[in-house]
Amino acid sequence: MSFAPLPSAVPPGLINLYSDTQTKPTPGLRAAMARAEVGDEQRGEDPSVNALCERMADLLGKEAAMFLPSGTMCNEIAVLVHCRPGDEVIGAADCHILVAEGGAPAALASVLVTPLRSLRGQFSPADVEAAIRPTSRYAPTTRLVAAEQTANLGGGTVWPVAQLNAVAETAKRHGLATHLDGARLMNAVVASGIAAREHAKGFDTVWVDFTKGLGAPVGAVLAGSRALIGEAWRWKQRLGGAFRQGGICAAGCLYALDHHVERLVEDHANARALAAGLAQLPGIAVDAPETNLVFFDVSGTGMTAEEFCHALEAEGVRMGAMGPTRVRACTHLDISAADIQAALDATERVLARACKAA
Ligand SMILES: *Cc1c(COP(=O)(O)O)cnc(C)c1O
Repeated sequence: MSFAPLPSAVPPGLINLYSDTQTKPTPGLRAAMARAEVGDEQRGEDPSVNALCERMADLLGKEAAMFLPSGTMCNEIAVLVHCRPGDEVIGAADCHILVAEGGAPAALASVLVTPLRSLRGQFSPADVEAAIRPTSRYAPTTRLVAAEQTANLGGGTVWPVAQLNAVAETAKRHGLATHLDGARLMNAVVASGIAAREHAKGFDTVWVDFTKGLGAPVGAVLAGSRALIGEAWRWKQRLGGAFRQGGICAAGCLYALDHHVERLVEDHANARALAAGLAQLPGIAVDAPETNLVFFDVSGTGMTAEEFCHALEAEGVRMGAMGPTRVRACTHLDISAADIQAALDATERVLARACKAA
């Protein structure tokens, strides 16, 4: 088996819009990590992890929470807790669980994931209802509905809370479990002005990532009822996801909650500025950003997304090819308004050269 090699190092001075996972811990966040009080997390004795979990359970309106190394592990543990082998999960066709977790629902939980058609990552109660299979000895048991807030490949879109609630209510009415992938939930909170617990209200499990726009180096928190988080602990143990002195990481997350949530408005403003600038350039069709993710199509430039990103990187700006002609740029903690202008200038140079070549 072979995989395309990853670039080995980031060139100095690169304006890195590839992902909001690319943030480097700030001096303040590193200092908070260095002073963290710690204990053995696996035994429940790490005060910093305990403080983070209590705070997140409260923020998300759930009874309990657990600290995990990654968002992927939050999603997979939730699938494991909610489902039995042969069950079916339904979610948007481009949801992270389906497209970006190495087939883990099949490999770890022995479940099927059935894609729902979605509009920018969002689906409706009717879509859920239509996907639920009748109980029969032939059909897999539809068990879990998973939604993403914000919807990453949907364009970083923010589900209206009423629609999230309606989807969750429909799921409940049919006896299904509900899971909210909140990798960027705090972006949705800041963009909508609606508290996290309101977004999470209809969902049995919900998690938030600290390594995206919140800028911590490690960690995500999964929340739910005491019973579900108790079950989740068995899987955390089985999968080797328990920490020892995890408080060093949790302290970074606590710092991020205090210092890096409100500032997400800056990322959203930078995303809007980037989109507005890109929209002025020939051959580029931009989706209006709702949060910190900017998606655009480069087919009008005559380049593929790969070619565009390659040429842009040579100009000192990195974005991600997310389809044959679809490109994603993410704003984050390490991107300033000046970086956005520089990225637009670089894009203009790339397009001018492509135009001359054609
Ligand atoms: C990044 C991401 C994940 C996975 O989180 P990791 O912490 O990178 O494992 C899951 N879902 C969505 C929507 C994401 O954007």
